[in-house]
Amino acid sequence: MTADIIDGTAIAEKVREEVRLGVQKMKEETGYVPGLATVLVGENPASETYVRMKQRMCEELGIRSIGHRLPADISQEELQTLVEDLNADPMVNGILVQLPLPDHIDEEKILNSIDLEKDVDGFHPVNIGRLAMKGREPLFIPCTPNGCIRLLEESGIEMSGAEAVVVGRSNIVGLPVAMLLLKNNATVTICHSRTQDLPGHVRKADIVIAAIGRAEMIKGDWLKPGCAVIDVGINQKEDVTKKRGYRLVGDVDFESAKEVAGAITPVPRGVGPMTIAMLMENTLRAAQIAQEKGELPVL
Ligand code: NAP
Repeated sequence: MTADIIDGTAIAEKVREEVRLGVQKMKEETGYVPGLATVLVGENPASETYVRMKQRMCEELGIRSIGHRLPADISQEELQTLVEDLNADPMVNGILVQLPLPDHIDEEKILNSIDLEKDVDGFHPVNIGRLAMKGREPLFIPCTPNGCIRLLEESGIEMSGAEAVVVGRSNIVGLPVAMLLLKNNATVTICHSRTQDLPGHVRKADIVIAAIGRAEMIKGDWLKPGCAVIDVGINQKEDVTKKRGYRLVGDVDFESAKEVAGAITPVPRGVGPMTIAMLMENTLRAAQIAQEKGELPVL
């Protein structure tokens, strides 16, 4: 048996097309297009790449991108003031503070100060709290977890009643994806670094979400035949045949896993492209919330 490959690139393009149409519709109706403010502190090369990718995607979809680049030694107060200014700016619908922030900055305080209605990363504790509670809906769902769920939905994988195992419990991936699976009526087990007999847990899963940050850790013989595997991991593995000396691999050993699973995401071109697509969807949604409240600027 060889698994169906879940094509994140194609599914992300579908999401982006929906956003493109939504932006166009808003522009026709109001003359306004959504605006995303990105805040980049310091010179972390990976963060710079992520922010650049997000800004490019905004341009492609007709979303205004407003970039703020700040020195690594910016004070907590200065960063706080910028977030407050962006909260008050009616031309800014979404605020994205690229993580990680330098050590001297209190990240929690900064994330807590983002206006709930502009929290397009979905990391505000109120949004996370609503995600966790039965009968409550967050305004925004964190992008990577939301992307994982969208991949399952678009691939026709039934979540209701399924045994789902999430490996990883981070605030940005593992925990919210587990809460989303629960909202979709899966029976969810969350595994982490202290879990005993990880392969034993994974073997029971109809749906496996791997968000560990350990290259190719989950092996094919850990999997239940026919299960669906969403591999969130992005890890560098030495590869002398590549110009840059490495290639990207997931947290799942793709070669052995695809012989056992029913469906699997590759790395790259699996979860990766979904993250930015879902951010664009959240930004459009933020502008729609402002439109519904009659708070869009009149141009
Ligand atoms: P993280 O904050 O480092 O969390 C890793 C989680 O894995 C933790 O909960 C940790 O457990 C658990 N873990 C570590 N070693 C383990 C082991 N040996 N056995 C079982 N569990 C173990 O990482 P993250 O931010 O969630 O990211 C996870 C991966 O996803 C990374 O490869 C990252 O690059 C990737 N990622 C991809 C995207 C995307 O767009 N595709 C977005 C975000 C992240 P403890 O809690 O006990 O420490």
